[in-house]
Amino acid sequence: MKKHNFSAGPCILPRVAIENAAAAVLDLNGIGLSLIEISHRTKDFEAVIDEATNLFRELLQIPDNYKILWLGGGASMQFCMVPFNLLNKKAGYANTGVWAKKAMKEAKIFGEVVEVASSEDKNNTYIPKGYTIPTDLDYFHITTNNTIFGTEYQTDIDCPVNLVADMSSDILSRPVDVSKYALIYGGAQKNMGPAGVTFVIVREDILGKVERAIPTMLDYRTHIKEGSMFNTPPVFPIFVVKETLKWLKSIGGVPAINKINVAKAKLLYDEIERNSCFASPVAVEDRSLMNIPFIYSEKCKDTDPALFLDFAKSKGMVGLKGHRLVGGFRASTYNALPMESVQALVECMQEFEKSVC
Ligand code: PMP
Repeated sequence: MKKHNFSAGPCILPRVAIENAAAAVLDLNGIGLSLIEISHRTKDFEAVIDEATNLFRELLQIPDNYKILWLGGGASMQFCMVPFNLLNKKAGYANTGVWAKKAMKEAKIFGEVVEVASSEDKNNTYIPKGYTIPTDLDYFHITTNNTIFGTEYQTDIDCPVNLVADMSSDILSRPVDVSKYALIYGGAQKNMGPAGVTFVIVREDILGKVERAIPTMLDYRTHIKEGSMFNTPPVFPIFVVKETLKWLKSIGGVPAINKINVAKAKLLYDEIERNSCFASPVAVEDRSLMNIPFIYSEKCKDTDPALFLDFAKSKGMVGLKGHRLVGGFRASTYNALPMESVQALVECMQEFEKSVC
């Protein structure tokens, strides 16, 4: 039975991207060699990385004065690369959960870190609002989608200083005005491809302003200069990114997938609200399109979460266990998750309400 994959990441990818990647591992473009046994400096691989970069630029409408990098190390490496390259004296962070906190921890190694806003008082169930961003910061960092807590910035914020965003879990799920950001980064392993490659979109003029020495591999300018080929790039993940972006373009790009994402999320949030067994812990106005946590309602609060998880599993649904910091359940509804999977989950919740709980 085909599984409904609600995993938070690595996660579901478009079937066609997986099939094309599988074929390329056996034989890339009929050249008689595998994608993973050729040099990254061959014409064949250069065409792959160029196509990935061009598609990303086109789909997210990334202006020409921004460079696109494909790096290793995950989003977690960016937690330290960002301050290494940008923090002279003081940086501001919005503390919206686990990943934001990890980013702040690294920045503290390089300078003063101001927690400009926080949602910790209510277990990160909302996005802070109404705060003032100091104008003497080297940059202000936000996590646009909080994968664990299921909160998301609904718009691109106005920021008086360089705005840096971790978009690991909502990149390409909605249109973004890239010009409002100085740097955007994320691990690819949600909406873009498999684990192993990290994207960075950086406005070049923000670089070269810190006084410290930066190790070559951690200096964005190295990777800009060498076209992400200073060292061997993660060739297989980049190929899958290229295929995933081709798929996204073929279905109408970001505006089209955003409509589908909005419809999927509405279907599920409406059911969470209606169903007497479940509730959402997240503030209505900040609910994520990509990660939808839900818990048992008051009525069912003493029920073992394994009961619903096992029930869902018997219907082919996987990846629904909630993060331990939130409890309950979490359905991740990334770009590649079809509407049918959300419909199946809603039916499963309705059956659970009628017959199990
Ligand atoms: N930021 C966010 C918002 C994430 O969801 C994750 C991983 N789930 C990370 C950062 C860390 O990414 P990585 O594992 O690629 O270092």
